[in-house]
Amino acid sequence: MGRVAVVTGAASGMGLAIAQRLAGRGDRVALVDLDGEGAERAAAELGADVAMGAAVDVSDRGAVDAALASVRERFGPIEIMVTSAGFDRFDAFTDITVESWERMLAVNLTGTFHCVQAAVPDMLAAKWGRIVTISSSSAQSGAARMAHYVASKGGVIALTKALALELAPNGITVNTIPPGFILTPMARRAEERGDLPSLEAVAARTPVRRAGTADDIAAACAFLCSDEAGYITGQALNVNGGWYL
Ligand code: NAP
Repeated sequence: MGRVAVVTGAASGMGLAIAQRLAGRGDRVALVDLDGEGAERAAAELGADVAMGAAVDVSDRGAVDAALASVRERFGPIEIMVTSAGFDRFDAFTDITVESWERMLAVNLTGTFHCVQAAVPDMLAAKWGRIVTISSSSAQSGAARMAHYVASKGGVIALTKALALELAPNGITVNTIPPGFILTPMARRAEERGDLPSLEAVAARTPVRRAGTADDIAAACAFLCSDEAGYITGQALNVNGGWYL
């Protein structure tokens, strides 16, 4: 029997690909997303014996706690937590409202904190755990018109590193994947709005000459969630097609 995993943002893009990959290798997976219907649908496709979906806004601690309680009831203690839920925005710095700044931090950073903190007691009890946060290469390079997003993802990288040191003696690894340009619904929407360059332009300036896929991220994430990755913690695994950051 595989591990028990929770993947946030699992109705779409990278979170969905990660949930599918973990289920494919034998883990039981809870797909958590703001889009509860999408999460339920994806879970149903994987099969009720190995997957469940839950509608959760990760910025709402009560909702996170309730969802994880139902995962424990259904599958048992949580052994793997992958936080992919997040959203982007493109605003000139002077146009960023206090509300928009606070919502960005509430979902991307505090949402990560809620999900990880709610799952860690199970891992401490088991003396085994795998935590992978999905951050962003933009937090390593900076990105114009994304100060709020970049700050939130920088916080995710820093949180990951701090937790790695604190949890390592307990058999729990904590790593982050800062994706480069990955072709998901989020990236397509940004491209369509003109907030990101065209896919062709991104591919042309990426060393491997293509945009990334959600499966590129899922493969790296599954490795970090494996037994074999037990000596890797506190790392940012850059899945970005060779961008030098
Ligand atoms: P995606 O296709 O939009 O998937 C993100 C999922 O997260 C969506 O299903 C979204 O639901 C959900 N979500 C948003 N806010 C949430 C909340 N408050 N609570 C629970 N779920 C929430 O995007 P993606 O490209 O796979 O992105 C996955 C992660 O990678 C994000 O954290 C993103 O910032 C990061 N990232 C993406 C790229 C890229 O190039 N795509 C690059 C670097 C980093 P709704 O659709 O209902 O809002």
